[in-house]
Amino acid sequence: MIYNFNELEKHVGHWIIITKDGEDDVSIKCETCKEVIIGLGAGDLLKEELAEDKGKTIYHSWHIDDVISQAQSRDINLSEQQAKEILQRVDHHKDAMVGISWDTLDVHTDDYLKDMSG
Ligand SMILES: [Zn+2]
Repeated sequence: MIYNFNELEKHVGHWIIITKDGEDDVSIKCETCKEVIIGLGAGDLLKEELAEDKGKTIYHSWHIDDVISQAQSRDINLSEQQAKEILQRVDHHKDAMVGISWDTLDVHTDDYLKDMSG
């Protein structure tokens, strides 16, 4: 999420898309950076006061470069398109108890390649 001018300014000129992730989550995302600009769940309110929560939460984004470099460390070469599809799988299968780790990327990369090899 973005709460101030500087964070928003770095996305000037980027591709912005609005996606619905599941029934109750809608977000405005920067397609260029793969970052959520604004993400709201059902019932969430966007208020100025929410900005006061800045610093009380952390947000960690994963980029296709992370997927590609992690795969490379295991002698697997992925195209950007493949890394994108793997990242989508990670996003769709995210488990709040487990979170997203390098191991998560490994598991999804392996599953993806297994599925692709038919
Ligand atoms: Zn951006």
